[in-house]
Parts: sequence; C-alpha cells; structure tokens
Amino acid sequence: MARFELVCTECGRVLAEDPELLVCPECSRFQESGGSVRGLLAVRILDRPELPGPGRMADPETLAAVLPVASAASFALLPVGGGPLLPVPRLREAQGMPRLWVKDDTRNPSGSTKDRASLLVAARAMEYGRETIATASTGNAATALAAVCAASGQRAVVFVPESAPPAKLVQMRALGAVVLPVRGSYDQAFELCGRACQAFGWYNRNTAVNPFTTEGKKTLALEVGWQLAPEAPDVVVVPAGDGVITSGVAGGFADLVAWGHLAAVPRLLVVQPEGSSALVRALESGAADVTPVPGAASVADSLVVEVPRAARLALARVRASGGAGVTVGDGAIRAAIGRLASLTGVFPEPAAAAPLAGLERALELGLVEREERVVLLITGTGLKDPAAAESAMPPLESIEPDLAAVERRLAGLHRHP
Ligand SMILES: [Zn+2]
Repeated sequence: MARFELVCTECGRVLAEDPELLVCPECSRFQESGGSVRGLLAVRILDRPELPGPGRMADPETLAAVLPVASAASFALLPVGGGPLLPVPRLREAQGMPRLWVKDDTRNPSGSTKDRASLLVAARAMEYGRETIATASTGNAATALAAVCAASGQRAVVFVPESAPPAKLVQMRALGAVVLPVRGSYDQAFELCGRACQAFGWYNRNTAVNPFTTEGKKTLALEVGWQLAPEAPDVVVVPAGDGVITSGVAGGFADLVAWGHLAAVPRLLVVQPEGSSALVRALESGAADVTPVPGAASVADSLVVEVPRAARLALARVRASGGAGVTVGDGAIRAAIGRLASLTGVFPEPAAAAPLAGLERALELGLVEREERVVLLITGTGLKDPAAAESAMPPLESIEPDLAAVERRLAGLHRHP
C-alpha cells in the first residue's frame, strides 16, 4: 500500500489527511467566488513501487501500490483502466506520422477516463466510512461514480446540467445514481454540490476540489508509460475542461520520472474547444490563472466549463512539461469523430475526438513535428453522444431490397474518409 502525504499545490504546505479538509486552509483564503479553486491539494506518493507484470496494470494490487489507499480490498470489484495503446497504422499513414498512438480509454466500465477518478474516490470514501458520495458533472464523472457505486454498494448523488446528452443521463440513472438535473450550467451544479455535501455530510467527489480525482486519473499516464516502454512519448495530447485529466496525467508522468522509469515528463498538448478555451487562453497569455468564459459552449459537452477548477495546477504542470495549448472549432471536432473512428476502430465522443483535431492544428502551428512520438488520449466513447457524431454525417437513406439498388448505392459512395 502506497504511503503518501497531501501537499498544497500553491504554498507547498504538507497537510494531515482529513476527509472534511479538501483544500489548503491558508491558500483557500484567496478563493474568489466563481473562480478556479485556490489551495488545491495534491497527493505525493512516498514509496517507489515495482513495475507491474504484463497485463497486470489494472489489478487492484497494482493500483494499491501506486495510489493512496490503505488496502487493495477498498477498491470496488470493477476493473478500471488497462485499455490498449494502439499503434493505429492507418491513422499514421493519413497523418504522415510514423510514431502515433491512440490510448483507448473508452473501454472503461462506464466508457470514460472518469472511471479512474471515481474508483479511487470511492475507495477513499470506503476507508473513511462514508456511504454517500456526491459529485457535479457534465455527464461522464457522474456516470463513472454511478458505475463504481453500483459495484461497491455505495450511494451516488450526482448534479448535472439538465442539458447533458440524453445517453449519459440514461446511463447514470440505469446505474442507480440519485440524479439531480440542474436548471443551470455545470459551474452552478458544481457550487450546488459543494453546498449539499456540507449540508448533508456527503463525501464530496467534485472534480479538482477532491485531490483523489486528480490522483486517480494519473493511472492513465502510468499505463501509457508502461505500454510504450522502452520508448517514451514526446507529446501527449489531452482534451481539457476543468484541467483535472491534464493535471492528473502530468502527475502520473512525474511519478514515472521520480521512480526512474522515464527520463522526462512528455510535452502536454492541451486541446480545448474555441467556445470553452480558458486554459488555452491563459497558456498563450502567460497568466497564472484563467479568466472565466461566461456562457461557455461546445459540441464537446465534457469540455464545457466557464471556469476550469484545476486551472492553476494544470497551467503550471503543462508549462513545466514544455507543453502548449490549442483550440479547435466545433466543426473540426465533429469531423474528427468519424475520421478517428473510421481509421482506428475507436469511436470517440466529441471531447475525445478533440485531440485528433488539436493535433492537426498543432502540426499547422509547428508545435508538434511529424516524426515525434505522439499519444492521443481517447477519453470517452461515442456511444455517450451519438447525436453529435451523426450531426457530421449526411442523411442515411434506405434502399429497396434488390441487388440493383445496392449497385446504384455503391456507385455513388466514396471511400471514407
Ligand atoms: Zn497552501
């Protein structure tokens, strides 16, 4: 079991573990209403774990060696992580990039990277003796929490914008969560969830504020490092909303460096939609924190936030990696869904197609070279939002049940893409 301590990401203070204490009491005094979270805590692992054997990355014993839990038995019996790192020969050829990989994280139980965070948060809640876990979510975090709690027998209460994609709402309801659709934005749901946790004594899984959300997602980076070894990635392309996957992935690579498994953290290329681009704007301007984007909107619903909650940490970690940010339009995101799916066999939701669109933008800008080793993080399945994928397709017309109709249709088809 990994020994660990909690460290303030702003002042560096080491704090005693306390399920009620989610942020640094000193730095949180600077918290502004509606701003990014001040005094975020980060987990620092004090041990140097052994490398897992092949195929054992997602085993509870492996996870307990690299994550802050008291016992492997605290994890829900739901295998999370371990998705393949695909060499994608057809996408390589299309992009002229001989060292391109896709990390398929759509194969998690609820279909997204958020399962990694929820698995760890639920394990910590179990060890704290807390039965109800609550979170705000654009959709995937709520579904992930619902799935893990369905396996463990804990209670999930989730606050989601009522505009969340219907498939996500159905999924979280089927998985047994108490679903509270909020007439408002994700940011309003986030604030409401925090207040409800204080009022009702629930364990707060709100992303970023709960340090185990960032820490749980680091296993995505550990797996990429282990799967690519003895090679090392030059660039990892991350879709960003709150900046928590970005921060977690950076932390995972930093752990691999600290443990002697990797020479350096790869450059992180952060991709955001043009309509929700607070992190990228700050990266470009050199600011230490974000300027909120009121009315943020995009087809990539998972990435839509007015204020990225983990902004300060994400910006610092991307800069430390030598990375950068790019924005992509909704049209480019929609087009990338079918292109990624048809060239790799992995069907992404809009947020998970954004890395491909972002990579293409970064190539144009000279931020990435075609010879570099690049990994795209595919963070959620397209089945969560089929309407978004369909919106980039021509209407599908049926044919009469005869061979001549088949021939006529085939004559009109162009090979995709
Ligand atoms: Zn502090």
